[in-house]
Amino acid sequence: RKSGSIVQKNHCNVGTIGHVDHGKTTLTSAITAVLAKCGQAEFTPYDKIDQAPAERARGITINTAHVGYRTEKRTYAHTDCPGHMDFIKNMIAGTAQMDAAIVIVAATDGPMPQTREHLMLAKQIGLNKVVVFVNKCEIVDKDVLELVEIEMRELLDHYGFKSDDTPFIFGSALLALKGDTESEYGEKSIHRLMQALDDHVEPPVRDLNVPFFLPVSSTVTVPNRGTVLVGTMKRGVLRKGQDAELIGYDRRQKTRITGMQVFHKDVDSCQAGENVGVIAKGIKKDMVDRGMALVPLKSMSLHNRFEATIYLLSADEGGRQKALPARYIQMLHIDTWCMSCRFDLPPKIELMMPGEQGVVHGTLLCQMPITIGMTFTVREAKSTIATGVITKLLP
Ligand code: GDP
Ligand code: MG
Repeated sequence: RKSGSIVQKNHCNVGTIGHVDHGKTTLTSAITAVLAKCGQAEFTPYDKIDQAPAERARGITINTAHVGYRTEKRTYAHTDCPGHMDFIKNMIAGTAQMDAAIVIVAATDGPMPQTREHLMLAKQIGLNKVVVFVNKCEIVDKDVLELVEIEMRELLDHYGFKSDDTPFIFGSALLALKGDTESEYGEKSIHRLMQALDDHVEPPVRDLNVPFFLPVSSTVTVPNRGTVLVGTMKRGVLRKGQDAELIGYDRRQKTRITGMQVFHKDVDSCQAGENVGVIAKGIKKDMVDRGMALVPLKSMSLHNRFEATIYLLSADEGGRQKALPARYIQMLHIDTWCMSCRFDLPPKIELMMPGEQGVVHGTLLCQMPITIGMTFTVREAKSTIATGVITKLLP
């Protein structure tokens, strides 16, 4: 069961974001060091986190380190990416989904370009909750801390986060890692950070409380029962007797759910994460194409134009040798379907180089059930050359 589709009350996925050298890895290690003292984590040394193994996800290589810890309230899975580009790729490809981020900003620098870029991307992919850890506080004056806080709050507002509602923790990952129990900035700051995460972050509950979305991956013809639509429920709850619509490829077909099976057993409802076979009234095999979706009646419009942030794989990663031209047509892959898509770079930008990320406009051949936050890949022949996330639907 993937993509966080199940409500897990006592678990949260978090990660560290922020400018290079501001202390993301030191903080990650410090959290495990401090919580290890109360038996709530296993200590993970800095070096081990920084030599994160390369993972291959959605056709690209990403270095990510995962550590786990727990508080009285819940368990946390925490992701730290060694490099700036690893972080960007991780966000765009949606490999380690985060429910919230710990934004680290060094008091010595204040917000820097990568602080901005990470916040912008976090917001684009739908991450709304952040906790700010102002790091390296032990080596600056108090009035500097005030300035950094003001600057950071302005930046949060600028990118659409509720700054009034965002906790700020002042600390020193280095002192905490060294086991300092005296200073306010030492181990105490880690405990304040954990308290802020417990209080401020909520595990996602969205998946069951939203209109259902069932991408159809195949059909089966069952004697005496008709055509069965098969797929994995992505969101929400589907009930027998419900009015629905089968949408995609410029078409919409009204229907009603007359029966469903999970693990070959008849059931009255099914929910996000479950693999289901659905019988929908009046739907014949030849009306169904892989990539269509079953959704509540009139709940969703179809789109063929969107804005996306994409990462173009470098040649080393198996991506293109040459730059992406301003106008580029290629197969786009989402979930169970693929389709020809035209990508237009923003006006005034003529090329996008392999290894770079940027914003593009996409135009699909047909209107499809696409939504904000969907991730996709672009492939040339058999190799992935880009991964992207839909950030806006365009008229
Ligand atoms: P990252 O690139 O954001 O992961 O940053 P690192 O965790 O690798 O830290 C970068 C540098 O800052 C390292 O030399 C750390 O020892 C140092 N550093 C991290 N946290 C602190 C801190 O709280 N105080 C001081 N003085 N240095 C720190
Ligand atoms: Mg690091």
